[in-house]
Amino acid sequence: MTSSARKSPAREFLRSVETVVGGKTLGLHEPVFAGNEQKYVSECIESGMVSSVGSFVGRFESGLADFVGSPTAVAAVNGTSALHLALVAVGVKPGDEVIVPALSFVATASAVALAGAVPHFVDVSDETWGIDPDNLKTYLETKFRSDGGRLVNGDTDRPVTAIVPMHTLGHPCDAAGIREVANQFGLVLVEDAAESLGSYVDDVHTGLAGHAGVFSFNGNKTITTGGGGAIVSTDTDLAHRMRHLSTTAKIPHPFEFNHDAVGYNYRMPGINAALGLAQLEQLPQILEQQRALYLRYREVLDGIGFGTLRQENPGTRSNYWLQAFVLDSGSRVVRDDLIAACLESGISVRPLWKPLNTLSPYAGCPSAETPVANDLYSRVVCLPSSASLAGA
Ligand SMILES: *Cc1c(COP(=O)(O)O)cnc(C)c1O
Repeated sequence: MTSSARKSPAREFLRSVETVVGGKTLGLHEPVFAGNEQKYVSECIESGMVSSVGSFVGRFESGLADFVGSPTAVAAVNGTSALHLALVAVGVKPGDEVIVPALSFVATASAVALAGAVPHFVDVSDETWGIDPDNLKTYLETKFRSDGGRLVNGDTDRPVTAIVPMHTLGHPCDAAGIREVANQFGLVLVEDAAESLGSYVDDVHTGLAGHAGVFSFNGNKTITTGGGGAIVSTDTDLAHRMRHLSTTAKIPHPFEFNHDAVGYNYRMPGINAALGLAQLEQLPQILEQQRALYLRYREVLDGIGFGTLRQENPGTRSNYWLQAFVLDSGSRVVRDDLIAACLESGISVRPLWKPLNTLSPYAGCPSAETPVANDLYSRVVCLPSSASLAGA
């Protein structure tokens, strides 16, 4: 075979992905509205209560809490605001440092910054793609000192108060292990579970290991409310405080405007909750479709020879929110060649997020060395992941 007749890896990759995507031009992750969406949204409009009063927000909250196995849920305008609110409610103060994985969507770091705190980036594990408890423990021991019962960064003298692990692309990290480390060092744990609705470690849903867990219902997530987010917590007092803070901290009263804290206007509107309630009803089916899509991609990409599909880890159940192709370590195939070939053919693929410690707003923030995050960033291509691609 002459070299010109030999298939290029990028063309081979494109052909495999095309087999799954067919002729469809879809975004990276598009919602499926196959249930009561029209009905509930119309009901909400007819009721006139499209903002936060009316029944839909409460119904969405209890449906979500039931699904996750949380005593309660607090719906919010989006995942970023929910994270911001959760961090403030658990006691993160301006000037604190908060441990954040370098590999995440930017919202994990922006929520910390919005709370006036400073993200302190750590690396992720090449197995879970999230924070690794053992590495975290060693890092905290070497980088921080105990000062009057507080853990203080030896370089910056700032106290570290919280850890925000993230479940990358829906694959759970070891949040229970991180909780143990957090307890040992007196830190608060808020899980960024924005991507992991429907993902479990053993039989425990993500978001429940720490003091609070946050989900997102943006249009590209597993289910959507248009824009939206929610906080779950096994601490019902904390959840009530978060709901209170999300609704301008207004003390319930028939007519008086009395507020007992600086509050937020972060409550999810009813019109969004109506959409979300219909989506929740279909969540089990959507999760089946995401898993079926994973199996379809695996069929066509298994023998490709220069990479593999991201698979759920033993002991975990992933929602397979975003399918990810991982180039083999040391492969000469270049990530951006695969991306360019797909984009030229109208197939939406994306790299992982640039490691957050390389972004200009966070360049001055403290950071561990992050070789695993940097390496994963260079080797992963996220594939079209709409549930509708799973076929009938
Ligand atoms: C989607 C997402 C969020 C927050 O999302 P919103 O778009 O604000 O709802 C936060 N963290 C991660 C990791 C996400 O993927």
